[in-house]
Amino acid sequence: MSDSTTQRILGYKCVGCGKEYPLEPFIYQCPDCNSNLDILYNYELIRDIWSVDELKKFPYKSLWRYHPLLPVENPPENLSMQSGGTPLLSFPQIQTEIGKINLYVKDDTRNPSGSLKDRATEIGIRHADELGQDTIVAASTGNAAASLAALAAFYEKKAVILAPASAPPAKLTQILQYNALLYPVEGTYDDAFDLSMLVAEANKWYSRSTGINPVLAEGKKTVGLEIAEQMNWQIPDKIFVPTGDGCIIAGVHKAFLDLVRLGWTSKLPQLIAVQAEGSPAIVNALDSGKPMEKVRSDTVADSISVDLPRDGEKAIKAIKESKGFAIAVSDDEILTAQYRLSKNTGIFAEPAAAASMAGFLKAMRLGKVFEGESIVILASGSGLKDVPAAQQKIEIPKAQPKNLESFLTFCKEHQSK
Ligand SMILES: *Cc1c(COP(=O)(O)O)cnc(C)c1O
Ligand SMILES: [Zn+2]
Repeated sequence: MSDSTTQRILGYKCVGCGKEYPLEPFIYQCPDCNSNLDILYNYELIRDIWSVDELKKFPYKSLWRYHPLLPVENPPENLSMQSGGTPLLSFPQIQTEIGKINLYVKDDTRNPSGSLKDRATEIGIRHADELGQDTIVAASTGNAAASLAALAAFYEKKAVILAPASAPPAKLTQILQYNALLYPVEGTYDDAFDLSMLVAEANKWYSRSTGINPVLAEGKKTVGLEIAEQMNWQIPDKIFVPTGDGCIIAGVHKAFLDLVRLGWTSKLPQLIAVQAEGSPAIVNALDSGKPMEKVRSDTVADSISVDLPRDGEKAIKAIKESKGFAIAVSDDEILTAQYRLSKNTGIFAEPAAAASMAGFLKAMRLGKVFEGESIVILASGSGLKDVPAAQQKIEIPKAQPKNLESFLTFCKEHQSK
């Protein structure tokens, strides 16, 4: 990498022991304590070379508009894939159980492969390319894999995927459709993750596994940068983030820290991690004040079904520093919220993504959201990836007689819904 990059990006800092490392050679985790790394930027220099006016001139709707805050030397030449650049839908002053609030939904179902994971993959692939790496391996609950497979097809890289054989068939199909090598693991996501580490090491392949590779959270942070820009740098009070490994919430936190350090904004939003009751390692750690412990995850929200969150340390730091909290929701609350989100906003989110809506509704019931607040819900992945899950709350009507009378009766029975 060139001198200009090494100036803009200072290196890595261990989130465990605080030790700092230079940018080169690239390392995934702290060689001393095996904790995850955070990427350090030279904000003074970035302030000199970049500004809000400069940002406005960027002609593409893509996360690459934030390149000065990303850990790669250059954006890819072809910017037509458009990861990121998703809409922030606003529902101003909606009436809720607690009064009026300003609700926003960040619709990341609209990424190229249908989930927020494309933001991380986009940066990961570019980073691998700059390191001269051709094959990229990932362990995934499904979305990271589908994302890697899709973007690898676009950028002409080889993708190797380890996913639990139990992942939703739509996601496994997506991976194969993009012609990635799929190794369905007889076991959980955590088993797939452990194997992916061995595979990457043995073959010297680039690892796009969430929670060890520090560049991935930098990609995920672009969702936070976009929210800030779309709200015209007026920071929302709370952002509800569906949380599995904790990489998204850590990334969102980093986004707002970056903006404060650049002087573009002055406060941090409260970050609320929403986990499934069947996968609550981060909620448990915050409730008990003890270190994170492995759980046996089991939830309909497969994308946040994680035994031991790989970015849990960073996630907990993000929640504490932002004065947020973590909340667990049941599968039934998730599926109910999934339906309500679609009905009220026109967004079809997968269960993990609808967990953020479920968390918001629950926080409201618990008196943790206040009238007049501005709230962002992160819709992190598309419901089309797991149609059977949505069908638990939806009944497709059976075929009806082809006459007007039946139609009118049918309408009367169904219109009240
Ligand atoms: C991966 C994923 C999450 C959770 O992200 P983490 O970084 O693992 O916390 C949430 N929603 C969707 C749709 C995802 O694919
Ligand atoms: Zn360390």
